[in-house]
Amino acid sequence: ARKFFVGGNWKCNGTTEEVKKIVSTLNEGQVPPPDVVEVVVSPPFVFLPLVKNLLRPDFHVAAQNCWVKKGGAFTGEVSAEMLVNLGIPWVILGHSERRLILNETNEFVGEKVAYALSKGLKVIACVGETLEQRESGTTVEVVAAQTKAIAERVSNWADVVLAYEPVWAIGTGKVATPAQAQEVHFELRKWFHANISPEVAATIRIIYGGSVNGANSKELAAQPDVDGFLVGGASLKPEFIDIIKSAE
Ligand code: 13P
Repeated sequence: ARKFFVGGNWKCNGTTEEVKKIVSTLNEGQVPPPDVVEVVVSPPFVFLPLVKNLLRPDFHVAAQNCWVKKGGAFTGEVSAEMLVNLGIPWVILGHSERRLILNETNEFVGEKVAYALSKGLKVIACVGETLEQRESGTTVEVVAAQTKAIAERVSNWADVVLAYEPVWAIGTGKVATPAQAQEVHFELRKWFHANISPEVAATIRIIYGGSVNGANSKELAAQPDVDGFLVGGASLKPEFIDIIKSAE
């Protein structure tokens, strides 16, 4: 069985005071035990040590990005080695905001995932189509190509969670229907079965992201191939606890 996974992507939000408040709300929340749900929150780099120190021990932290190779003369970047040095176990890579706004290509994301894994980080790797791609009927093709660029560089999938985040659903309030999410998750699992192995297809967690909230998470979580969520806006609010509870 695949353990339910809920990630909170805080994106580029928060002040020290706000971060402390969010963490104390999370720390007071009643949630299922860690053998039922794995919870990871992802603050901006500058708040990672603070959050790591204050956060309840059953929740973990993730960075939102890291550099594609060993650190050095790369002004403004943060390396996988630095995250490991700080005891940060997870990193989100290939988020659509980085692909689309910062022009990260499928190949670049694939290289980042491979490098981060090689340094011992666990990776939440994101894929997803734009509205234009969905409307032209290329959704499965697009997410398969994004996944393939990772697969060409990665052989051990045990430390990877794949996040399906349709771009049209991110921050728009237009959540995918449970059927739409299930369809793409099923196609991705089929892709792993055909191109990687039946074992990886059966064990890899495929989580959904895009306008998930406390009111829609339960129905999405009931889909057989939806193994959790990557939550943006609602992860900054107390309802993140309700989303975690949809694991049960
Ligand atoms: P929202 O939940 O705000 O739509 O963001 C989803 C997301 O991008 C998580 O990575």
